[in-house]
Amino acid sequence: MTTYLNDLYSKLEAAYDAALLSGSLIFTASETQTTTETEYNVKCEVCYAPALALKPKGITPVVESKTHEKIERVNPFLPHDPALFVANASEHHKILLNKFCIVPHHFLIVTKDFHPQTQPLSPEDLLTAWNALQALKNSHPDAIAFYNCGARSGASQPHKHLQILPITRPTPITNLVREVIQRRPGRKETRPGDHFTVPIPCIHHAVLLQDPENTPGKDAEDILVEAYIKLMDSMLMSMREYAEQEHLSEEEKDLVMAGGRASGLAYNWILTREFMMMIPRRQESTNLTKEGITLNINSLGFAGMVLAKTPEELELVKKRGVIEIVAETGFMFGKGGESRSAEEEVQKEKEQEILEKQMGGALSSL
Ligand code: AMP
Repeated sequence: MTTYLNDLYSKLEAAYDAALLSGSLIFTASETQTTTETEYNVKCEVCYAPALALKPKGITPVVESKTHEKIERVNPFLPHDPALFVANASEHHKILLNKFCIVPHHFLIVTKDFHPQTQPLSPEDLLTAWNALQALKNSHPDAIAFYNCGARSGASQPHKHLQILPITRPTPITNLVREVIQRRPGRKETRPGDHFTVPIPCIHHAVLLQDPENTPGKDAEDILVEAYIKLMDSMLMSMREYAEQEHLSEEEKDLVMAGGRASGLAYNWILTREFMMMIPRRQESTNLTKEGITLNINSLGFAGMVLAKTPEELELVKKRGVIEIVAETGFMFGKGGESRSAEEEVQKEKEQEILEKQMGGALSSL
């Protein structure tokens, strides 16, 4: 185990308190409202932070370069604000506090050198996020790590950064995964290392992680890299199959195929101490109304948590449900690539469960 992350939580607390006091960090208070999404049998969360609506859009200032030839964006992570620095997280990563947080101690794992946010995660990125989750095991056992990769993923900064939300309760997706992988008579058992899905639209690719302590011959890095490659493989396969459908419009095909090219791929990645998942993205925001009220969605949306900044947004999200609006930004793959509506997707999962029950668990022994 790395020593970089020793006493991580006390370091986070000390840096956070000082940054808040000096005004280097802006915490916005919010109220969390729970939605009951009866159709999916899950509760989701809408974080309501009206103060954020008052802030100007575009938190990174745009400046003119010295030569006045082109406009350049300031990279807030290189150089970073020293007041937001917490610790080094590995030889090539540093931990910075999120300057604009709604959850205290929300932090970023940022590459020390510039790497683009469109790049896949490296073994060291994966291990560093894992080590940070392990370092918070006692204070925040349900913390989640996430990576918004690519143009339509909801990322706002182009310098490679993973994020960790040190929350003190399981996210809606963690609750759902725990429910799905529970051993039940007649249900196929999900074993560590297995691929699984959850019965909500657009989340088709998840892996239950092996425990490095109990997996002879593999260390944490092997397990993480294996899971990441497995998810990337199956996600790209689903996208290819989806694009091959005859009835798909050229526009839709283009969108999926652009995702298949490394430069155009956009996906959200979620890691907890139990599972890893990958969700390909078709669009960055969801349309709350036909009149153009949109909501940006990132990995946290697929964890069942969205942010509303106005009373109108709050009402619209609660009315339509978090799952429904988040699903609009992903792809609904079916078996064999055919697309399905959210309702069909849930119906299909239910049918599969009934079939497995009828077969008296015979499928689980396959
Ligand atoms: P994303 O929007 O997913 O790309 O995440 C980037 C995060 O960086 C956002 O949550 C911002 O709040 C945060 N952020 C923006 N500017 C800074 C900064 N100067 N220092 C630290 N964090 C920042």
